[in-house]
Amino acid sequence: MGKEMDNARMGTRAVWAGEKEFRAFGSTQIPVMLGVAYDYEDVDVWYEAAMGERPGYIYNRMDNPTVQSLEEKIRMLEGAEAAVAFSSGMAAISSTLYTFLKPGDRVVSLKDTYGGTNKVFTEFLPNIQVGVELCTTEDQEQIEREIAKGCTLLYLETPTNPTLKITDIRRLAQAAHAAGALVLVDNTFATPIQQNPLALGADIVIHSATKFISGHADAMGGVVCGSVELMKAVYHYREINGANMDPWSAYLILRGAKTLKLRVQQQVKSAMEIAQYLQTEPLVEAVYYPGLSTHPGHDIAKEQMRGYGSIVSIVLKDEMKGIKCLLSRLQYANRAGNLGAVETIYGPARTTSHVECTPEERKALGISEGLLRISVGIEDTEDLIEDLRQAFAYLQSERLHYTT
Ligand SMILES: *Cc1c(COP(=O)(O)O)cnc(C)c1O
Repeated sequence: MGKEMDNARMGTRAVWAGEKEFRAFGSTQIPVMLGVAYDYEDVDVWYEAAMGERPGYIYNRMDNPTVQSLEEKIRMLEGAEAAVAFSSGMAAISSTLYTFLKPGDRVVSLKDTYGGTNKVFTEFLPNIQVGVELCTTEDQEQIEREIAKGCTLLYLETPTNPTLKITDIRRLAQAAHAAGALVLVDNTFATPIQQNPLALGADIVIHSATKFISGHADAMGGVVCGSVELMKAVYHYREINGANMDPWSAYLILRGAKTLKLRVQQQVKSAMEIAQYLQTEPLVEAVYYPGLSTHPGHDIAKEQMRGYGSIVSIVLKDEMKGIKCLLSRLQYANRAGNLGAVETIYGPARTTSHVECTPEERKALGISEGLLRISVGIEDTEDLIEDLRQAFAYLQSERLHYTT
């Protein structure tokens, strides 16, 4: 379908990309191809397929049609030449880093990357003598200075988790390319609906498909997109090291991805209204949402995103006491460690994104013990706000007991 889809808009791509070319038996839906290997009556044909001289599937650790269908959908959503899917977002991130890094290389990244990514930078890359410089996320000048000192790979994530900091992809990609570095962007929070890093100058875009792309919190996956040349290298790393996506997960994520645009539209609309409402709650000390004009990254977000995402973080005046009390009263809420699902999900930074850190480390990262991340779902906006309103009213009455 590739070519005919070029003019299609995002919602249409989410539905149709990667569909027709992987159907079987005339079914309107993609088959879940579970067989791990393929039968060749003719050994010469088998050999040619194995050597990549003709098309043909060999073994599931290399290629699987269900997984390829999903790769094609995400590829089209990111406007990339090629895509490679992995068993999780972290498998996608670590595999991509290990594909391109070798001893003596130097990575420049941010203090605020996803917890798992941060651990790869601080715990695992030093083992293979890769230097990592983690910069203050909002300090673009510092990031540029570090890039100019010599840099093999620039790794960005924007908006960040859970404080929704914004970095300027275009500006930093330019600086990185001037230094001869490869530019990677984790686009999980923005989704391809709201931000396309490749169009802003990045070389590689990575998603935890477990989150918004799947949208239903029932499958794990990761997808990496970029040029044919770069993705060949990532693919080769995957076929040998083996963190490829399972066909069942690919099917579930594929099904979820068809509604990505609709879900994101509703979530973004609600997130904006919820952020505005939360600013009026006296027990909320701070609201982090890039859509608010007071947010320090608002102007950059406006420039490089189409919509401001659907994660809103707040700081409660009463810290953990307040969070516990509020969470006990919310009705339309999963209290869980994931995000990006159709259900609204609440998670304190202390038990989700920054659970590995000590309170002092969280403080150094500007993460208050009272920080609560809200992943806004697709419920009706009014219900979510009413739910929060009644929970805050309860908190207001309860705090008389615990603050005295
Ligand atoms: C969840 C997440 C990841 C990791 O993805 P998994 O699928 O959980 O391995 C990476 N980056 C961001 C921004 C995430 O939210």
